Amino acid sequence: MKIVAIKVYQVDLPLVEGRYSWSEGKFVEVFDSTVVELITDDGHVGYGEICPLGPFYLPAFGPGARAGIGELSATLLGQDPTAIGPINQLMDKALLGHPYVKSAIDMACWDLLGKATGKSVCALMGGKFGESVALYRAISQRPADEMAANVAAHRADGYTKFQLKVGGKPEDDIARINAAAETLTDGEVLVADANTGWRVDDAIRVVNAVRDRDVYIEQPCRSYEHCLTIRRRTSLPFILDENITGVDALLRGHADGAMDAINLKISKVGGLTKARLIRDICVSLNIPMTIEDSWGGDIITAAIAHLAHSTPEALRFSATDFNSYVTVQNATGAPQRVSGHMIASDEAGLGIAPNMDVLGKPVAEYKS
Ligand code: MG
Repeated sequence: MKIVAIKVYQVDLPLVEGRYSWSEGKFVEVFDSTVVELITDDGHVGYGEICPLGPFYLPAFGPGARAGIGELSATLLGQDPTAIGPINQLMDKALLGHPYVKSAIDMACWDLLGKATGKSVCALMGGKFGESVALYRAISQRPADEMAANVAAHRADGYTKFQLKVGGKPEDDIARINAAAETLTDGEVLVADANTGWRVDDAIRVVNAVRDRDVYIEQPCRSYEHCLTIRRRTSLPFILDENITGVDALLRGHADGAMDAINLKISKVGGLTKARLIRDICVSLNIPMTIEDSWGGDIITAAIAHLAHSTPEALRFSATDFNSYVTVQNATGAPQRVSGHMIASDEAGLGIAPNMDVLGKPVAEYKS
């Protein structure tokens, strides 16, 4: 099997809630998603997606994804997409860094590997653990009372895990955490995710003020060193996200005792292949994971479901159903949330079929 054509599509994904707001006043109203289609000489077609959280969350942006796929196209044409290891090595040799660009291509290669073998990506990644995957709901940054009300609204959808978007003024964030924590019922999990938005002194004020609450603190500050400072000054359980960019960062954090859990985003680490490696190391080290991506539509939601469902339940902190946050369906067959849970498809590959009406005409096309 050889790649003979690569098509790139751009899809706007508007938000159901109108606006998603997080730390430092950042927000997105319409996500810029990129879908890549790999076509092979024997008629198979594989799909992958990359959807940055705007251009200012991670070092990633929509037009950059599309330019990067163009940059890699000559390397990819003529290659066997089911040779996941060599494909990743070739991409890393041809383009230094830019993990988010490679993520969409790697995802499409897994889709093709599944279709070629008649196996779901989840089966190829080791098989399912448990019946379904419990999801968390991100609670967009708003005044404290509105966020507490949104926790209640999403509880009605079956969610039991809530991630508050904080990273604003310390006094406002303390109020947000307290208001949401007051509403919690037995068995629910609350995370306060600052998304790098606090200075060290801000973070110390917040963790001191909420020290008696049952809440996780996620990525308080931008640098690893500042996060480690906060980690050592709080008794609250602690999650690292933006700093966990690969195996090196994970092992350093583990050696330093810098976190109790991590957030594993597929595109942040360069695709399903590298995310699976990090997942497997976390399983070996007994580190729980939130498994997700920076953002996405149905194709990314399917990929998350395959990686998450093939992860042992005890280490699956949570996962995300991004396709329920947006108004546009870029594929059919993706998992649909039921009572706060989703299930990976048993169909071959990712188990999705793109909605070509939504994808429209390719914005770029490369052929051998
Ligand atoms: Mg996070």
